[in-house]
Amino acid sequence: MTASTAEFVARIARTRPSARAESQPPDHAVSFTLIAVVVAWALVFVPLTRLDYREVSAAAILGAALLGLALFWPQVPRFATLAIPLGYIALAALLRDAAGGGSSGFGGLFLLPVLWLALTAGRRELAVVLVAMATAQLVPLAFIGGSAYPDSGSRGAFVFTTIAAITGLMVQRLTDDTRRRAVLLQEQTDSLTHVSAQLAAKNERLLELDRLKDEFVATASHELRTPLTSLSGYLEMSLDPAEGPLSPTRENHLRIAQRNADRLTVLVNQLLFLARADSHPLALDMQPVALAEILDEAAETARPAADAKSITLQIVGDPLLEVLADRPQLVRVVDNLVANAVKFTPDGGTVRLAARHEADIAILEVTDTGLGIPHSEQPDLFNRFFRGTNAIEKAIPGSGLGLAISQVIAEAHHSTIRVESTAGAGSTFRLALPLT
Ligand code: ADP
Repeated sequence: MTASTAEFVARIARTRPSARAESQPPDHAVSFTLIAVVVAWALVFVPLTRLDYREVSAAAILGAALLGLALFWPQVPRFATLAIPLGYIALAALLRDAAGGGSSGFGGLFLLPVLWLALTAGRRELAVVLVAMATAQLVPLAFIGGSAYPDSGSRGAFVFTTIAAITGLMVQRLTDDTRRRAVLLQEQTDSLTHVSAQLAAKNERLLELDRLKDEFVATASHELRTPLTSLSGYLEMSLDPAEGPLSPTRENHLRIAQRNADRLTVLVNQLLFLARADSHPLALDMQPVALAEILDEAAETARPAADAKSITLQIVGDPLLEVLADRPQLVRVVDNLVANAVKFTPDGGTVRLAARHEADIAILEVTDTGLGIPHSEQPDLFNRFFRGTNAIEKAIPGSGLGLAISQVIAEAHHSTIRVESTAGAGSTFRLALPLT
């Protein structure tokens, strides 16, 4: 249902007949009475007929009285609700008689109050006006008769009143039905409004919590950095042979502590990078960068891990390809993609680092023959702290921040990292950059 239909229905619903009769007049009561009276009176002259001017004058006075009563509807609502339709029937009967009786064609005006009450009042009021309508047709038949009101008019009066009753009841039923639906619709709208207000409040709260979380992570990482630096420094000093010999067990303990301190340092640095990226746009030092060099460096960095798993590293790079980028940041992205490829590829697999160009765009690709990523998880890959089921199920270490950071860097270069992957068949991560 459209908004305007709902509004229309709601307006009808607001005009409940019983409530109306006791308080307010129906909407547009005065203007409808005015139109009905003016139309009835104007029809007398269309086409110009022989008229009984005394009756026309009486009808004019009655019409003015009805209009006056319509103006005072709020003061006498119960009285006006019935008096105006009944008065209108009298007005129509007077005009009918003034214009020649049964053959004048004015009988149709009796329908107006019936339809009006069917829409705005209850069954009782409708019954009263139907009785009045029948009376207005039968009284002249009985007391005036003759050529103006021939006997055959009684059949016409019966048919006309029956049709008016059926039409009135149908209209009333339709109106009631519409009102019930409108009330239901209003209730549903109210409850939806309530739910949406609750959701908006919850959303606000979540945003606030998210902001607090970011603030907390930024502060905590900052505070962790100083003690971590000191811890790593002392661990290095303790492991320095110049400080004296260590028992193999103690050296092993210190090396484990150093490895964990290094992992913690990486995590804290990642968190600080993202916290900074949230508050300031990433400052880039854009320079021409040879992609083949970047691929070679990334392969060298990943080689120990790859060799440990017998993974073949392939480099397919056009030595002439140069892009405009911030070199250290681009290295960070490629290192991360290659490290992931090695991490998520089982022993004996292949990781391919490629750089090619399409028109004036350079495409940098890291493809592996590894575990792959299920389609359902791909939209979340670049969310902070997201770790796929492949990482969780196989307990592959990581923080879930590497791809989020890589994407921030790609976006700072006005690009995005895209992924193509099939679970069990490997993945390709792709970054497009403008050629110099
Ligand atoms: P981390 O590697 O520390 O878990 P990332 O942000 O780098 O965090 O990666 C997020 C997740 O994306 C990983 O946990 C893993 O599930 C998935 N993923 C990333 N790279 C690959 C890849 N080459 N093959 C399979 N899954 C990958």
